[in-house]
Amino acid sequence: MKEQRVIKVETPYGLVEPVVGKLADREIVFMSRHGRNHVTPPHLVNYRANIWAIRELGVRKVLATAAVGSLSLNFKLGELVLLDQFLDFTKNRPQTFYEGGQKGVLHVDMTEPYCTSVRRGILKASEQIGLPVKNGACYVCTEGPRFETPAEIRMFQSLGADLVGMTSVPEVVLARELGMCYASIGMVTNEAAGIATHPLSHAEVMESMKELGIKVARLVQSTFELCTPDQNCLCASGNREVGKF
Ligand SMILES: [Zn+2]
Repeated sequence: MKEQRVIKVETPYGLVEPVVGKLADREIVFMSRHGRNHVTPPHLVNYRANIWAIRELGVRKVLATAAVGSLSLNFKLGELVLLDQFLDFTKNRPQTFYEGGQKGVLHVDMTEPYCTSVRRGILKASEQIGLPVKNGACYVCTEGPRFETPAEIRMFQSLGADLVGMTSVPEVVLARELGMCYASIGMVTNEAAGIATHPLSHAEVMESMKELGIKVARLVQSTFELCTPDQNCLCASGNREVGKF
């Protein structure tokens, strides 16, 4: 990223400080959802402010990354996985910009929660640079910040979940509400409770992230270079029924 700088964006939900810069002669915004130095836990991330801010900056396509735990032998430590569905087990997070009154009410469509067009772009980039990405996984979002119990993991498995994490919801929902494309690459950093043979720790996740972070950065860069800013999918009409406010 060239001409990199931190900027301040005021939103109705609070102040956000994304990093902006240029990549392949186009503008790119980098947002660390946990804040700089990873200080904000998943249940306290200001999702609405983050998503609002990048939309204000003109972003139309969001490429998210997320550390995930694996619930299935099909998804192994160190793999990159494109999410295609989610189960929402969060408990206490604002999930919408549309809170009635003047803002209206929006029941946003979630048939394809993760943009099919951006996902195709990621897969194409992964082929070009020879970095394998598994295509399609059901992500269960938990409230956190604690890890799950083995009983919860068994329940999520029986419901069809493949991966577990704490951040994709409501991020993916809010992006659609503002008409942005959103795709997410899961980085398998640990095995879930009851599958792993040892207690879980944040240190283990961060250690796995080091290597995976470098890989995923290459993939994001190649995808960015391949993608155009125009949206040739249904995401932009996510809020068509009520419009912006
Ligand atoms: Zn899209």
